[in-house]
Formats: sequence, C-alpha cells, structure tokens
Amino acid sequence: MKLQKLLKEKFGYKNFRPNQEEIISAITEGSDVFAAMPTGGGKSICYQLPALVFEGVTIVVSPLVALMKDQVDEAVDNGIEAAFINSSLTSEEASAVYSDLYSGKLKLLYLSPERLALEGYYEKLQNLPISFFAVDEAHCLSEWGHDFRPDYLNLSKIKKYFPDTPVAAFTATATKQVQKDIIRILKLDKPLVVRASFNRPELFYRVERKEKVLLQIEAFIKDHAGQAGIIYRTSRKDVEKTAEYLKSRGIKALPYHAGLPQKTRIKNQDKFNRDKIDIICATIAFGMGINKLNVRFVIHGDLPRSMEGYYQETGRAGRDGVESHCLLLYSGGDMMKIQYHIDRMDDKKEKEKAEANLRRMSSFASVNVCRRKQLLEYFDEKGEDNCGLCDICTDAVERVNAQVDAQKIMSAILRTGELFGAAHIIDIVCGADTEKIRKHNHKELKTWGAGSDMSKSWWRGIIDDLIRQDAIIKDASQYNSLKLKPKGREILFGREAFYIIKKESQAVKASSALEFDAKNFDEDLLSELKAIRAELAGGRGIPPYIVFSDKTLKDMCIIKPLDNSAFLRVSGVGEHKLGLYGPAFIDGIRKYLGY
Ligand code: ADP
Ligand code: ZN
Repeated sequence: MKLQKLLKEKFGYKNFRPNQEEIISAITEGSDVFAAMPTGGGKSICYQLPALVFEGVTIVVSPLVALMKDQVDEAVDNGIEAAFINSSLTSEEASAVYSDLYSGKLKLLYLSPERLALEGYYEKLQNLPISFFAVDEAHCLSEWGHDFRPDYLNLSKIKKYFPDTPVAAFTATATKQVQKDIIRILKLDKPLVVRASFNRPELFYRVERKEKVLLQIEAFIKDHAGQAGIIYRTSRKDVEKTAEYLKSRGIKALPYHAGLPQKTRIKNQDKFNRDKIDIICATIAFGMGINKLNVRFVIHGDLPRSMEGYYQETGRAGRDGVESHCLLLYSGGDMMKIQYHIDRMDDKKEKEKAEANLRRMSSFASVNVCRRKQLLEYFDEKGEDNCGLCDICTDAVERVNAQVDAQKIMSAILRTGELFGAAHIIDIVCGADTEKIRKHNHKELKTWGAGSDMSKSWWRGIIDDLIRQDAIIKDASQYNSLKLKPKGREILFGREAFYIIKKESQAVKASSALEFDAKNFDEDLLSELKAIRAELAGGRGIPPYIVFSDKTLKDMCIIKPLDNSAFLRVSGVGEHKLGLYGPAFIDGIRKYLGY
C-alpha cells in the first residue's frame, strides 16, 4: 500500500503497470533482480521508487550521457533528489555533485560505466551508504546483444566490492542468451527474474514494397502531418538525401548520423526532442540517446539487418503508450546489399549469425503471417494468429497466387542457362526485341513474350519476391545472373505454391482503427495546453515531454481540472508537478473555458 501511495505522490500514477510492483517489492526486500521489459514498459519507476523507500543513495549505471541528463531532469521534476556524473560535467559541477552526495542529499546518482572503470572508484563508493545498484540497458554487457560495450564488463566488480547490496539489472532486449550473460557477468544472486511480454500493443506494423522510396516516405508523413517521427536509413548518404528531400517538400526534417560533427548531431537531436522539428532522418547510430515519449511513427527506408534491431528501432515509437505506426519499406535489392556485405565477412561465426538474421528479417517482411506474431516468436513468446493491428491482420494486404508468373520467370532463367541478370530475363518474358535478344536468339524461347500482358515493374516485383522467398538468387560473383535454388525448382515443377502479397492501394487508411479517441477530446484545448507546456519547458531549459507527456495533456483535456484536487486526478500528475505546473495549466483551462 505504501508503494502505491508513493507512486501517486511522486509519479502521479494510480496503478502499477504489469511487473512493476513485483520488481519494486523484491528490491526493497533486498533481492537481486533481472528484468526484461519492453521499451515504454516503465523501467525507470522500478528503480526510482525503491530508491525513495531506502535510506541512502541508489547508484544507477546508464550508458549514454545524453540520456542521463534527461533522466535526471525528469526525476528532479518529480521532486526526487537526483544528479549525474559523467564526462560532460566541468570539474566544478562534478565537485558540487560530490558534495551533495557526501552530505547525504541525493537519492539517485547516475553514473556512466566509464566512471566505475576508473582506478579506485569502487573503493571511493564504499564510503557511501549505497542502498542498491540499478544497471540500466544491461544488454550492453553481452556480446550477443546488439549494443555491446566493453566498459560494461567492469560492472562484474560490483558484487566484489558490495557483496551485500542488491543489484537490479534492466533491459529492453530479451533473448535468453543475453539474459544468461547478464546474470552471469553481474553475478546476480538468486535473482527475481521477470520477463515481461514484449508485445507492444500500441504499435501498428506495416510492410510495403519499396518502389519510389522518397515519395512513399513523403506520402506517409503527409498522412501523419504534425506528428513526430524517425526515419531510419542504412547509409549516411541516404540519410542526407532523405532529409534534404523532405525539407524541399516543406517538411521540418533534420539528419543524424555518425559522420556529422558532434555539435550538429546534438543540436539536431535536441531540436527533435524539443518538438522544434517533426522528423529526424537517421542511421541506427541514433536511438539510445532518445528519451522522447511522443514519437508517433518510425519508418525504415531500408531492410534492417536483424529482427532485434528492427524491434529496438520501432520500439522508439509510442513510448507514452499512445498508438503509433511502424512502416518498413523493403526490396529484393536491400537483401542483396546486405548479402554483399555478409559475403565479405571473414569471421565464420559472425557470418553465420548475420546470414540467419537476414533470413529471419526478410521472411518477416515477405511471408503472409501476422507481423506481431513473428516478432513475438523471435523473443520466444507465443503470439495470436490475428493481432488486429498489423497490415496482414487488417486485410490491408491480399494474398495472390502468382505461381504461373513465377514459372514464366524461372523457366526463362533455366532455359538461358542461368547466365543472365534480371533486366534481360524481364525483356525475354515481356517479348522485347533488343540487340541482346537477337544476338542470343532468345526469341526462339518458349517463354519469349509469354508475359507481354504485364508491365516490366510487375515482373521486377515477381523477381524481387522470388529472391525474398529464397526461390532464386542473384549471383553477385557472376554479373548478377539469376539462378534457381531448390525451392525455386519445387515451384517451377508445380510441387510448391508461390504467393505474393498485394497491397491495397491506400493501405495507410487501415490506420483509422487506431486514431485513438480523437473525437473524445477538444483539439483546440490540446493546442493551448501544448503551448503552455512549451513555454514552461523553455523557461526551465528542459524538453516538453519532461513537463508532461502528450498522454497527460490529453487526459487533462478530458478531465479539464479547475482546481488542485482535480488536477491531481490527471494521470501523470504527482505532488511535485502539481506545485510546479498546476497553476499555469489550471489558469489556461479556466481562460479557455471562459471563466
Ligand atoms: P522504459 O524506460 O521502460 O522505456 P519509462 O520508464 O521511460 O519506460 O516509462 C515510459 C512511460 O510510462 C513514462 O512516461 C512513464 O512515466 C510512464 N509510466 C511508468 N509507469 C507507469 C504507471 N504505473 N502508470 C502509468 N504510466 C507509467
Ligand atoms: Zn497481426
């Protein structure tokens, strides 16, 4: 009961999310904890709340400088004494933090793993009354994770210096292998192990064939005008190109990749965090540093390299629990590019891993199975057959039997000795009369002109799908000539079916099911409240979402509180924030209602 009271007082929430209470109770009873929870699952409260219950200070190990500042700002805004120490502080700032620390003023201290690796640092910490250690983003410990950081290995010393202090590890990545590594390296002692469901019910997944990628991206953004979104591209060049294009179309977008000067990167990320721009185009270098809650969509302009990466990147949408969209655009060409890199890898084990990842990813995009079910199965969870919130389950796609067309293409490949590339094979099937066709006497083939009723882009699509479904390959070592694989022969000889997924032309419209409660609240009031939030955030030098999340503002639009006790009923309003922000918002709502 005491825990729930603290939850409302400090964080403004009435009820715990799944698993939160169990984790918090275990920590306060002195247990070690391993918790895998999806992004947005509410991990921060799992260590911030026990920190308040204990005497002394809680150490939070967190990998990213940018994220740390945000988390500290957020805690302070909730009235929790928190600070961080990392390389971004001047020595005066750091000594101020140490002096607060030694005088017992702090409840939470965020540290980077590099700090702990400094000679003598653990010994220094031993003089402090440390209640427990929270290790955030704990998958950074594991070489199996997608974001291994050697500095994290140093955390194995925590138990050596603090054998009796609880350690709680948190991660949003939960393959079993990573879990095992974390428990082993941190030497967790009979930990409470919590694996939350990795389902993100607020995310709508959609995959489309990549045709004119920039136009597709633009169309999607126009359908989500004014909303915040991230666009991931594989190469820096494409990041730049996409950002430039969107800017030229009047969309507020900026690039982010490791090739930009650090100052520009920080500036661009900051503008995105503070709602000054809508779109950030980024390589996957962008992400861990993002704490923004109201990202409404994530677009992948290229096929990601692994399901794990895809899950993490799409996971940045909808952290406030509000419905959000994930669009993946991909083509057979993407697969070839990744394959090309894999072919050049030396380490055999790495190569096998990368290949398995690619197969899994392209199957995710091409097979006719609920996207959510596939993602959950990747994390060893069972999904339902119809989630109702992905393109497959909402009938935005239609499954078409394309076996005859596939046979036309593969017959042309086989009859020409598996020596030619896609363009020439398409010319044959379409019945073209090119120099090359004449030279090789390809008009004589039975398949010449067998597909002249369909367009070249149709045939290009069939070839892409054949590649994706592992029926044929493009042989990069032989001028990209197409060759049949065993599965292709099965299809060619009629022993196996071949389906393609045809998109409804306006697939995006299926989103209407998601337009959450749009009618239930007053849009004008919401913009008023957003303006008030922007002003308060600007005044305090913090991003708007730290003041209140969009979800909290929407709740405010529904409740329309006119006094303190009503204001406290709004989800996300705790006592400290009531004091900080209540007057401004209540005043705004009163004015709006004409009092
Ligand atoms: P994570 O670190 O797991 O990605 P956060 O800790 O940032 O997630 O939480 C995501 C959002 O959910 C935050 O806005 C947080 O305030 C909110 N939240 C956390 N716990 C609860 C709860 N019990 N009820 C409502 N909202 C919550
Ligand atoms: Zn589904």
